[in-house]
Amino acid sequence: MHSLPYLTLDKDVRQVRQADVDAFAAQIHGGVLGAADAAYDAARKVWNATVDRRPALIARCLTDRDVQAAVRFAGEHRMLLSVRGGGHHIAGNAVAEGGLMLDLSGMRTIGIDAGKRTARVGPGALLGDLDRAAQAHGLATPLGINSTTGVAGLTLGGGFGWLTRRHGLTIDNLLGASVVTADAALRTVSANSEPDLFWALRGGGGNFGVVTSFEFQLHPVGPEVYAGLVVYPFAQARQILRAWRDFTAGAPDELSVWAVLRKAPPLPFLPASAHGADVVIFPLLYCGDVEAGQRAAAPVLQFGDPIATYLGPTPYAAFQTAFDPLLTPGGRNYWKSNNFSTLSDAALDLMIGAAGRLPGPECEIFVAQLGGAMSRVKPAATAFVGRDARYIMNVHGRWSDARDDDRVRAWARQAFQDAAPHATGSGYVNFLTEDEAERVAASYGSNYPRLQDVKQRFDPGNLFRMNLNIVPAEAAQLQASP
Ligand SMILES: Cc1cc2nc3c(=O)[nH]c(=O)nc-3n(C[C@H](O)[C@H](O)[C@H](O)COP(=O)(O)OP(=O)(O)OC[C@H]3O[C@@H](n4cnc5c(N)ncnc54)[C@H](O)[C@@H]3O)c2cc1C
Repeated sequence: MHSLPYLTLDKDVRQVRQADVDAFAAQIHGGVLGAADAAYDAARKVWNATVDRRPALIARCLTDRDVQAAVRFAGEHRMLLSVRGGGHHIAGNAVAEGGLMLDLSGMRTIGIDAGKRTARVGPGALLGDLDRAAQAHGLATPLGINSTTGVAGLTLGGGFGWLTRRHGLTIDNLLGASVVTADAALRTVSANSEPDLFWALRGGGGNFGVVTSFEFQLHPVGPEVYAGLVVYPFAQARQILRAWRDFTAGAPDELSVWAVLRKAPPLPFLPASAHGADVVIFPLLYCGDVEAGQRAAAPVLQFGDPIATYLGPTPYAAFQTAFDPLLTPGGRNYWKSNNFSTLSDAALDLMIGAAGRLPGPECEIFVAQLGGAMSRVKPAATAFVGRDARYIMNVHGRWSDARDDDRVRAWARQAFQDAAPHATGSGYVNFLTEDEAERVAASYGSNYPRLQDVKQRFDPGNLFRMNLNIVPAEAAQLQASP
């Protein structure tokens, strides 16, 4: 009799009868792929090309029932299970080597209720899908800066972008969700229904079940906003980054100004002599009235002597795709990131030092400016504890040749380590790499024990472990006892 080898949750090799696989596949509307199928290789690819894993099976779910069947099948066979939304997480946990990968990319529908200003969003939707659909009504919710990122993973880890200072994290705008938990039950969660699960979903990063639908609050935004870039020479970095830090401390919530230290891409508005030169770029967006935005952002032009500026009224949905060309899938990527509540001169100098040693033309250090509305939510109100993060630095190693893996990773690790004494010690789970499991507890800080209790209730066997994993309370006690 035919059978298929697979890896269990404990990474043991077991066999499942082909007849059982066939019976399972018959339940999944998008079909189930194995290694011999033509679509298998494309389906197992994720954004980060350093991730090259081969699941035993890929279930292409199209309905809630498909997801329930897949969770049931994985549970019955104790099969290693992964969940893929947009496939952007740097750690590549969307793909289970030897296990079952739930591919949700076909569940991409979006429904906008313009009257209520809400959006119902499928778990395969990308940020660009939601931005486009909501902007058709002049609405938006805070999302990230790369339009091909998945709404699902971004939301479950917290989610921040240009609207966060004004409207909070993505999770602060989550009104409810449908979730298939480890027992394969489909649950509706909101502030009034399964409140503990709803609390844990908002930052708990996929540890509690498979979300099959999200409901978001939307806000009037744009459609035109004041946005763009100001580019300075790297030689002025010390002066302009201090000026940026001081300015951002008092900026209005509508305005977000990020800092990016990198080699200049060949942007058409830059003089050719600047292409490839070390620069400091301030991307910015003001999400209120366009003229007020121009006034509010004017000081960014006075930090020093800019090489070039590209600022003006811009469609919000277009600005949400502006960085896509620098963040295309298929590159090799490694990230290290720190949260900061303040940026001391010493911390800025360390970033400048690391940017002076960039190991390649696509590498960068970016610092997102947060605070505002997100920091006015209490740390215990949702699973996302790091409300004191006024800035998140991401050291982004990006390259194309596998022979550079160690060199670029070493640079990123060093930059992270050097800056760590100045950082809060917390982390953003959506930015943690697969070798950072030890940072998970610190990233959840005082919320971690409650998360472990909720995990114990809804996933005591840790079926959902392909993530930045929250260990169920009882298993953690066993691990801790001698
Ligand atoms: C180029 C780039 C730019 C980014 N910019 C930002 C940014 O501006 N702001 C920001 O906050 N983040 C940003 N991120 C980080 C991003 O939030 C995370 O990578 C996020 O996990 C991506 O979600 P995904 O669905 O695409 O990823 P996936 O890799 O598909 O999913 C990540 C994890 O989420 C869980 N998951 C996914 N879908 C579900 C589901 N339906 N149910 C349960 N669990 C699920 C799984 O554990 C999975 O391993 C960026 C990432 C990239 C690569």
